[in-house]
Amino acid sequence: MRVLQKDYERRHIIMSNLSRRDFLKAAGVASLALALPEGVLSLEALAAVEDPMKPYPYKGWEDLYRGIWKWDKVAAATHSSNCTGACRWRVYVKDGVILREEQPREFPSLGGDIPDFAPRGCQKGACYNTTYTYGPERVKYPLIRVGERGEGKFRQATWDEALELIAGKIVDNIKENGSDTVGLFTPVPAISNVRFCSFHRFGHLIGATAYTFYDWYGDLPPGSTATYGVMTDPCETADWFNSRYIIIQGARLTDTRIPDAHFYTEARYNGAKIVIFSPDYNPTVTHADQWVPLKPGTDAAFNMGMANVIVGRKLYDAPYIKEQTDLPFLVRVDDKKFLRESDLVKDGSKERFYSWDIKSNKPVLMRGTWGDKPPKELPTPPFAGRNTMGYEPGTIALNDIDPALEGQFEVTLQDGKKVKVEPVFESLKRTLADFTPAKASKITGIKASVIEGLATEYAETARKTGGKVLIINGVGANHWFHVLENNRTQMLLAGLVGSVGKNGGGWTHYVGQWKPVNIAGIAQVAFPMGPAKQRFVNTTMWLYKHSNMKDLIDTEEQKRHGYKKGIKEYMEESISKGWMPMSPAKGDPKVLIVGLANFLGQAKGQDTILRNMWHKLDLVVDINIRIDTTAFYSDVVLPAAGHYEKHDIVSTEEHTFFQCLTPAVEPLYGSKTEWEIFRLLSEKVQSVAEKKGFTSFNDAKFGLQRDLSTLYSQFTNDGKFVNQKDVAQFILDNAPMTKGYKFEDIEAKPQRTKVNWTSPMEDGVPYTGYKFMVNQKKPYPTLTGRQQFYIDHEWFIDFGEELPIFKPVLQADKYPLKWDTPHNRWFIHSTWSDSTQMLRLMRGGSYFLLSPEDAEARGIKDNDWAEVFNDHGRLVSRVKIYPSAPNGSAIIYFGYERFINAKQGSPDIKKGSSFNSPVPIRINPLHMVGGYYHIQFKPNYWGPTGVNRDVRVEVKKFMGK
Ligand code: SF4
Repeated sequence: MRVLQKDYERRHIIMSNLSRRDFLKAAGVASLALALPEGVLSLEALAAVEDPMKPYPYKGWEDLYRGIWKWDKVAAATHSSNCTGACRWRVYVKDGVILREEQPREFPSLGGDIPDFAPRGCQKGACYNTTYTYGPERVKYPLIRVGERGEGKFRQATWDEALELIAGKIVDNIKENGSDTVGLFTPVPAISNVRFCSFHRFGHLIGATAYTFYDWYGDLPPGSTATYGVMTDPCETADWFNSRYIIIQGARLTDTRIPDAHFYTEARYNGAKIVIFSPDYNPTVTHADQWVPLKPGTDAAFNMGMANVIVGRKLYDAPYIKEQTDLPFLVRVDDKKFLRESDLVKDGSKERFYSWDIKSNKPVLMRGTWGDKPPKELPTPPFAGRNTMGYEPGTIALNDIDPALEGQFEVTLQDGKKVKVEPVFESLKRTLADFTPAKASKITGIKASVIEGLATEYAETARKTGGKVLIINGVGANHWFHVLENNRTQMLLAGLVGSVGKNGGGWTHYVGQWKPVNIAGIAQVAFPMGPAKQRFVNTTMWLYKHSNMKDLIDTEEQKRHGYKKGIKEYMEESISKGWMPMSPAKGDPKVLIVGLANFLGQAKGQDTILRNMWHKLDLVVDINIRIDTTAFYSDVVLPAAGHYEKHDIVSTEEHTFFQCLTPAVEPLYGSKTEWEIFRLLSEKVQSVAEKKGFTSFNDAKFGLQRDLSTLYSQFTNDGKFVNQKDVAQFILDNAPMTKGYKFEDIEAKPQRTKVNWTSPMEDGVPYTGYKFMVNQKKPYPTLTGRQQFYIDHEWFIDFGEELPIFKPVLQADKYPLKWDTPHNRWFIHSTWSDSTQMLRLMRGGSYFLLSPEDAEARGIKDNDWAEVFNDHGRLVSRVKIYPSAPNGSAIIYFGYERFINAKQGSPDIKKGSSFNSPVPIRINPLHMVGGYYHIQFKPNYWGPTGVNRDVRVEVKKFMGK
């Protein structure tokens, strides 16, 4: 064996990224190194060793190797990148430098045959440190813009100077334009509780506007709020293993759920059939038993065809749907409204409803509805809906009634008028009868026999296994204008076969790291006067209004979709009726502070926003670890501490364990934690307000006299919240999910939540929602207290959507190709889209995918620069010829920065462009419905979602102009 120390030294230096001198010092061989002249340190100068197990001169060099595995400190961490992973990483520090990250196996096992959650991670997380902690993209010091917005010219500033500038603009704008013209955008409390609280608490105390995100990002499945009364309560991914049949619509699990994808292949190994709906043959499909290559945006038509078969062949679970759904509830045939107690009885409730009891042959009131008050009123639950836990167990049990599902009946109204009524199921049967597999086949491009086969198999498997059939919904089904119906038709299938509320079954959703399981603790810090006093606005509506987005849906398209007027008129009606808020109440937004979000880069309507709205902003501040599109277009960029430089709490819906960030090193360069930034900003606003003699103002909306002269002590809770760890512990102490946990417990290993939203936590059992409803018979938090498929709001009836239905893709852009923007394997949204390691895996810059036929028709070859355009904007990018792309589609992975192609020498770099350039903001009027019990505005729970799939473009070879 011959060992050459020179080679070894070279490799070690590369690995540790230390200087030679530091390396030698760290390895404990400095004395040897200093004893030798430069360049002489090598085993070439030493003797060859024939048997390294025996003593030989300079054997101490082996300590160099051992030194690699010695550390001063190991910290626990994860990545707050909205990836939904919440993986555990151990971060190794030597001499104040983070050198390694490792995925430990620290998640407790759930037991039984359930595969473990750990080790978990992905290739992006594995290069977090090299890309962002020490990478060139890192924002190191406060920056103040010196060029035009978007030019990327900044100068270094001191913290004091930057904060003075920001505080001055905040105070001036509150004084001159109102506190609602100041706005803060920071998303997703689950990905870092304390960071979220720092932005929201500051905004809360000064009366600023807070922008929603879950709806704006298109992550919110509005059908979940409409059907279950909960915005989302997914099963943890380990529960996929319990399933016997998994339908995946619009989710590319191997690309975007990397730490959890193993559960679906393990479920398959465990006997489950995997059926994947996807227009293209992608890596997730390669693990499926059956691929359904339907036309983009037609999932709901397929689902309706399946429901036709399930109902037509009586494959549904009748006892389940009578008890757990509104399908037996009576609806008046004359006006399509539920038959209410107030229709039949003097002083009857408008919120109590009937079914037709077959045994007594008369209408009977169903228990657990909105007007059937519980014996015990409980506070608002974590999912911000109706709290039904105060009802007695057994409330929605049918006991001795047998509700009819079919037929028509006659009732006599209070005024003596006789009207026909029918169960919702009867109406559903009529709707479905029109939606035959043959009709669904024409829309989806899939044979009717396939639809019939899958429907039968899905329902039969549910019957044989007690409901162990699961539908997984992803962004591919969620980002559409008619997302509501995509969701509702999926839920209809899950309800018909009796799978919801059962392990291995139901409907589940993984889009965004949304579920803040411990919101009870977070809210106490973020909204000290209560969430109702946070000035939330729906971001989709806010941007639509202030960027003067054109309603490009022409008259024919409006008619086809049942519109009676334009979107702006629907919006005005919704706001005037108090269904949806708007902030600022008048005038333009003036100050925008963004944190842990690439607000502009991810904005639908990006070019229109830049053209029509950005100039209205007096100040844009980005608090960030890296320079992204938003930072480029900001006036001040403040350096935030990285994920390995602070304390925070992290959770996800993928599993039920709390994670943490801990500071492996103190905030690097000139960065600060978000809590410290807002603590200092509170102090600065207070002092600037005092200097300007503007220390208090009346906030009429909330009837508050706001006091800026005590802002610092309000923000720090009289000095109790000094740093991120203080706040993290307070959050743990004040949520039932974590009460009793010390931060150090989570640092030692991930800790499982003690309670959850709609089901109990059970040892050895993966979490899945709605067991309180199925097992304990507590009402769902909806108007009817059931899975509610029928919505009798007048707008839903007007649009023909009182029941789940298929609505076609918008054809509002008169261009031939569908513009598709799926999530990417190599980035998490835009994070890592600038990573050298990741770019190396995908051609070094942006590309979009075209089928060989579509490319050839346009004279485009692989790797050519091409221009994508429509009436909203244009993008210049390289093209990748992709045989799996359906003809008629151009597909780009979502997340590239406007400036990404600079590294590739794009001929269009001066202008810059984005995957969002051709995407407008589109609003579905039904998302602005309110005043309907469980369907009313609550931030991130109900409101217009961001739509980016109903977009059409043309493509041509880019000729350099
Ligand atoms: Fe896990 Fe997310 Fe980090 Fe990847 S980026 S390792 S999924 S926490």
